[in-house]
Amino acid sequence: MAGDNKGKVIGIDLGGTNIKAAAVTNEGKLVTKLEWATEAEQGVGHVVQRLQSIARAVASEAGWIWSDVAGIGIGIPGFLDFQAGVVERAVNIGWEQVPILDIMQRELGVPVYFDNDANAAAIGEAWVGGGRGFRHVVAVTIGTGIGGGILIDGQIYRGANGMAGEFGHMVMDWGHGHVCNCGQTGCLETIASATAMLRSARQAVERGETTALASYDTESLTTRLVIDEARNGDAVAGRIVRHAMETLGMALSYIGNALNPERIVIGGGVSKAGDVLFSPILTGFQQGALSRVQEACKIVPAELGNDAGVLGAAKLAVR
Ligand SMILES: [Zn+2]
Repeated sequence: MAGDNKGKVIGIDLGGTNIKAAAVTNEGKLVTKLEWATEAEQGVGHVVQRLQSIARAVASEAGWIWSDVAGIGIGIPGFLDFQAGVVERAVNIGWEQVPILDIMQRELGVPVYFDNDANAAAIGEAWVGGGRGFRHVVAVTIGTGIGGGILIDGQIYRGANGMAGEFGHMVMDWGHGHVCNCGQTGCLETIASATAMLRSARQAVERGETTALASYDTESLTTRLVIDEARNGDAVAGRIVRHAMETLGMALSYIGNALNPERIVIGGGVSKAGDVLFSPILTGFQQGALSRVQEACKIVPAELGNDAGVLGAAKLAVR
């Protein structure tokens, strides 16, 4: 139906390595998706061109004509000026002061919206993932670092200048531990990120601890293997994962006491690991969270995997 643009939006997840785009209905059904290399090294203009092309390509892949598209949302890995519609800085892709919304709107003739990638993923999970059906949702992603997003009464909460949801930099080990990228010492992500668990495992092996982890060479050891060995009952791997996840759970209790959410959605590559992660997370959370906060809140795994970003970006364009 030409001109019927009520139910059709496009979500784009701009990453340092890949651009993902999805054609999505305004009920959150993913119709089709594409993934292209970002080619950030070829400059800002090139990447902007690719964003425009992938938007048109995914619409046509979905069988939509362009005039059917109601809007586009983009998740961007960087600091954004929401008033001006400008990407202030996105280190991964080498962007500085790029007025992306104006450029895209002029070229494509549809409204374009953006948010940072962590907020986009949180919006996606709250819309059609682990937080679906709830209005007060916190999403936390465990990866190289720890990021997240906050939805209050169904709306993303960005804070004064877009920094809300930087959970990874809650200092959990004040004056101790590892120095973080941000310059602080003892940040949550230096303890509980996938990278941090892997580092702890390597250090345990180097110290000569008796563990199944020692049977892997340093290069082939991954966070996934550390978690698998923890599940298999290896005491050292178990200790590492438990300490990391109890600390995360304690951090979530601070967030819980501050925000009183209905769902805390845990995402990232390791989030499908089940009880070996979620049981210590719950232990930490229960130690720190007020009982009424616990009664109202369930901690659940993310459901959308790598699609959270494109779905949340698409949601930005649903009016
Ligand atoms: Zn930090």
